[in-house]
Amino acid sequence: MVIQRIFMVLFGAISYSTDQMVEHINNLPREVRKNRDLSVFDVVSIDDLSNDDIHLIFDVAKKFKELGNEKFSLLKGMTVFCVFFEGSTRTRASFELAGKKLGADTINITSNGTSISKGETLHDTAQTLNAMRANIIVVRTEYSGIPQFLAKHVGAAVINAGDGMHEHPSQGLLDAFTMIEHYGDIAGKTVLVVGDISHSRVFGSLVRILPRLRASMRVAAPKTFVRNGFREAFPHVQVFQNVEEALLGTDIVIALRVQEERGGGKGLPTLREFSKTFGINERRFALANVGAIFMHPGPVMRDIEVHNALMTKGTTKILNQVENGLAVRTALEWLVADRTDKKVKLYDSI
Ligand code: ASP
Ligand code: ASP
Repeated sequence: MVIQRIFMVLFGAISYSTDQMVEHINNLPREVRKNRDLSVFDVVSIDDLSNDDIHLIFDVAKKFKELGNEKFSLLKGMTVFCVFFEGSTRTRASFELAGKKLGADTINITSNGTSISKGETLHDTAQTLNAMRANIIVVRTEYSGIPQFLAKHVGAAVINAGDGMHEHPSQGLLDAFTMIEHYGDIAGKTVLVVGDISHSRVFGSLVRILPRLRASMRVAAPKTFVRNGFREAFPHVQVFQNVEEALLGTDIVIALRVQEERGGGKGLPTLREFSKTFGINERRFALANVGAIFMHPGPVMRDIEVHNALMTKGTTKILNQVENGLAVRTALEWLVADRTDKKVKLYDSI
């Protein structure tokens, strides 16, 4: 009997201290968050986010990054569905890992893009995910606008993980986070985006987030990649057809892959030609400002948009982008699914 009592006291003490430890870990990001909430339930476009939202995401992401491999129970009991109708490795993996870090259950649904074009499938998907009471739906599709549709018709928070040629907001956020991490502040810095700007959803998010952080923007691309109306749509972006001229005075260089799966290759004689005229090699990169950094959202086609030798330089931040992607997506998932104001999303059931 006495032995049993001693065992219970000891066991109680151990479980108590474990609970306390879990709470302590959970409180570290909470202290940075200070009960702030996003002004939106879904993140489909950078345009959805206020400047305060962007800074909240960055503050929390920074804390998650500092805490490294810690695990949390902030989303315990919640479910994250990663619905990928188009291939991805790093984006899907980081959203899934983010969910797991937060203690959520994560489910992956992958399918090729063709079934979704039949229309009905998307309604079914939305209804099914609703019936399963998903808390977060991370969606990637080859069609622009599908995350918007889902966001309207499900109770879960929807995060757009790339829709066709439209946007990839978590990529825009992690790119901006990486720039700020390097420079402290990017107001007044010049960012040059080189390559397939017309088919790139990463560009779609960059062109929206960078002016919000008061960075100035340039693009260098073949004429065939600058769509009619581009200059009117983005009057704040300087357009160059000569990459060397564009590089002069630049602080951040971002190269984009030619999106052949979206017809990007049709605007070029050959990829080799593109590499010769727009590929970033060490000689070209040296034209940028002293201390400039090089970025790429991945996957990289080595020796096409970027010369192999540049990949391993200290000024190349591609792996930092990947690491920051996890921190930013962890912040996003936590913020969309765990509201301290207890507001509930309203949606139109189908
Ligand atoms: N396009 C994919 C992405 O979003 C490529 C990859 O996943 O590696 O990252
Ligand atoms: N991973 C990025 C995307 O999914 C960039 C790329 O695929 O080139 O858009």
